[in-house]
Amino acid sequence: MTILNFETNPSRQHYDVVIIGGATSGASTAWHLTQDSDFKGSVLVIERDPSLKYSATQASNNCMRQQFATKINVEIAQYAADFVNKFGKIFGPDPCVPNPPIRQFGYLYLSDSPAFTEILQKDQKLQESCGAGTEIVSTADIKKQYPWFNVDDLDSGSLNTKNEGCFNALGMVEWMRQDSCENGVEYIHNEVVDMVVEHDYVRAITLRSGERIATDNVVNAAGTRAAQVASLAGIQVPVEARRRYTYIFEVDDPLPKDLPLTIDPSGVHFRSYGASDYLVGCPPLGPDTAVDVDDFSFAEDAWNKKILPIISHRIPQFKSARVTKSWMGHYEFNVFDHNAIVGPNEKIRNFYFIAGFSGHGSQQAPACGRGLSELIVHGKFKTLDLGVLSYLRIPEGRPLMERAVI
Ligand SMILES: Cc1cc2nc3c(=O)[nH]c(=O)nc-3n(C[C@H](O)[C@H](O)[C@H](O)COP(=O)(O)OP(=O)(O)OC[C@H]3O[C@@H](n4cnc5c(N)ncnc54)[C@H](O)[C@@H]3O)c2cc1C
Repeated sequence: MTILNFETNPSRQHYDVVIIGGATSGASTAWHLTQDSDFKGSVLVIERDPSLKYSATQASNNCMRQQFATKINVEIAQYAADFVNKFGKIFGPDPCVPNPPIRQFGYLYLSDSPAFTEILQKDQKLQESCGAGTEIVSTADIKKQYPWFNVDDLDSGSLNTKNEGCFNALGMVEWMRQDSCENGVEYIHNEVVDMVVEHDYVRAITLRSGERIATDNVVNAAGTRAAQVASLAGIQVPVEARRRYTYIFEVDDPLPKDLPLTIDPSGVHFRSYGASDYLVGCPPLGPDTAVDVDDFSFAEDAWNKKILPIISHRIPQFKSARVTKSWMGHYEFNVFDHNAIVGPNEKIRNFYFIAGFSGHGSQQAPACGRGLSELIVHGKFKTLDLGVLSYLRIPEGRPLMERAVI
């Protein structure tokens, strides 16, 4: 593999495709373009911060699941599992590709009411019809498989340990980036600050360094900044930054086997992290509202006020939990329907979106990047039809609501 050299200035004045944002979504779109034998064009990826320090990508909990409430999200997750399971084959032998590539501890949704159990049952039927291994489990089943749980206040659970767990999502971005560069894609360290729109087409973008670059297609893969980037072309997209906390903790007496990613009825979710420590995440304690894209402050003491009481109630062994690391990251939250937006804007036809993943973009990037590259090259989806995720559903007022957002 070559060492990536992030130049500031592009080598040409025109590119067939300009991608704004070089994290998960941008990297996947660029990489999938290089894999299409019908695509012979030039690609420029512009990333304002190649360290990705403040991207959603860097904050991700790196998990994948098939327990979604919409069919397309189950199908997207199944492609993700196939893709990740083939990492070694796709990106060549690399000491960083873990074996197995997915740590399959599974996801366990806990229900505390018959009403929520009914929702889990409905979702399980959908997931099963798509071939997912989800099962509804009784509290006795939960206790049998995971004896550490306090199930006294629970009604049931929904569990799948097949192709659900965590994977090296940041490694995937890096491997895609390296491979794309070897195939002619140019990545630069710069920022898009303006766009030239004429007759309903983006004709050029302007870089912070002053250059104007002509292009035939522009991709908005700007994550939490997707709305800012859209506004450069005079359009709006309902994506905003939402605060999410993550803590890594250790305990005196670790569990004897992996802890599935467990979604407590409170919304707090926790899982095994390393061999004997754990990860826990949660939304804000108060209203879940938009925050400034540059605000990474811990606004509240979520650990003591919410997380510690909840995890020690659910797993009494966790009373001794001590934080070893923590971070606050932003979901790129689609307030319209909590689902990804993949495809062209309805007014500016060469301005494509891959944005608004609302907390599941690490696992959705392979299928959505592939789909978007197909749209750019062929004008239609050739593999998985992502039409229901089109931008058009927003102006037409047709939300595809995903209720299984963690
Ligand atoms: C706490 C947390 C936990 C998560 N856990 C999971 C999980 O377990 N599983 C899962 O699937 N997903 C998870 N996600 C969601 C996932 O991380 C995101 O959906 C995904 O990383 C989005 O990637 P992206 O490339 O679209 O956006 P981002 O990662 O935000 O990247 C956008 C990039 O665009 C660049 N950019 C923005 N504007 C410009 C500009 N004008 N010019 C140039 N560059 C620009 C930014 O610098 C940034 O690097 C989680 C997210 C968070 C915050």
